[in-house]
Amino acid sequence: MAQISELKRQFAELFGGTEEKVRAFQAPGRVNLIGEHTDYNGGSVFPAALTFGTTLLVSPRADRKLSFASTNFPAKKEVSIDNIEFNEEDDWANYPKGIVWELAQRNIELSHGYNFLYHGEIPNGSGLSSSASIEVVTAYALLTLEGQPTDTVRIAQWSQHAENEFVGVKCGIMDQFAVANGRKDHAILLDCDTLKYELVPFRSGEYRLVIGNTNKRRGLVDSKYNERRAQCEQAVQDLKAAFPQLTLLGQLTLAEYNANEHLIQDETVRRRARHVVEEIDRVAKSMEVLAKDDLAAFGRLMNGSHDSLRDLYEVTGDELDAMVDAARAVPGVLGSRMTGAGFGGCTVSLVHESSVERFIAEVGEKYEAKTGLKPAFYVCDIGDGVRELKGEA
Ligand code: ADP
Ligand code: MG
Repeated sequence: MAQISELKRQFAELFGGTEEKVRAFQAPGRVNLIGEHTDYNGGSVFPAALTFGTTLLVSPRADRKLSFASTNFPAKKEVSIDNIEFNEEDDWANYPKGIVWELAQRNIELSHGYNFLYHGEIPNGSGLSSSASIEVVTAYALLTLEGQPTDTVRIAQWSQHAENEFVGVKCGIMDQFAVANGRKDHAILLDCDTLKYELVPFRSGEYRLVIGNTNKRRGLVDSKYNERRAQCEQAVQDLKAAFPQLTLLGQLTLAEYNANEHLIQDETVRRRARHVVEEIDRVAKSMEVLAKDDLAAFGRLMNGSHDSLRDLYEVTGDELDAMVDAARAVPGVLGSRMTGAGFGGCTVSLVHESSVERFIAEVGEKYEAKTGLKPAFYVCDIGDGVRELKGEA
């Protein structure tokens, strides 16, 4: 984690010295262990919060200005509370502005302005949810400072709504939910239709979670993501012939789907829908095997998830496939899959602790030889969700 004292020094330099009024908050990034492209289908997901994320230092101002700075981006962005609208020029600051807008929609008007300094340790645009992290930390901090309840389920919903409606990214609820509700050494089993969730101890024993960043820029991800969403909606429309009340694919069991798949007209749409219902089934099976501490079986389910995302949902691409193939060839690897929306971004692998060094060397070498890109690796622990850094600050 970043040194808070160093960030405080930068904060004072940027905004002048009112140190005693500066408070510090943190929200993590997240990694999804299994259950991909199921959240917007009302299915289940199984993400975990990371031990690194976004730190926010914030202090009140006497006027009605919001001044945003980030150690990750050069310019300070300043706006008035009374004029919060999406503005291309505000670039990254549209994420925290979206939260201010969202709070106003919920009749929570800020009583005065604030200075913000963000410090992100999550690589941006890599599928580890830096956007959810900046949203959730902003929402949590502002609610705290305004003396409002900090219900972390509501914070996740509001943050997702802000990203959907203010920033204009049609993401599901998983990222914000994991970032807001994570718990050390636990993964979150979340039903994205009902928002019922359970913190499940993730006992990985002698195995470590290793994230591999392909460092591939996600080019057409938004249009492809929207296309997948539209295909899932098409599948629901076709299946309504048998299930008139159906609104989301995740409401069907695998058996119900199997008996009615023929109702889906388009072959591509059928493959997309099959991925979704089978992936939800894999999440359920994961809970069974993890309850028995059968990590090898969980690893096989991770592999099945990736293969389905590659063959049926077609969201992996050469880089993610190359990294996963290289990972699976290393002895001591129980499973490896892409994580996040796909088309680039990261993989997650379950690696025996004695193989981690070899894993990073071999996967790195093979991946670079195949793609010409330099990857990065993070050996992860599972951390807590959003919180104020009190003693630590
Ligand atoms: P992901 O959520 O997968 O990391 P996104 O494209 O959804 O990728 O979000 C990344 C964007 O979020 C960045 O380009 C930036 O606009 C914003 N962001 C995330 N973290 C920070 C930060 N620490 N400071 C400023 N902006 C940030
Ligand atoms: Mg994001």
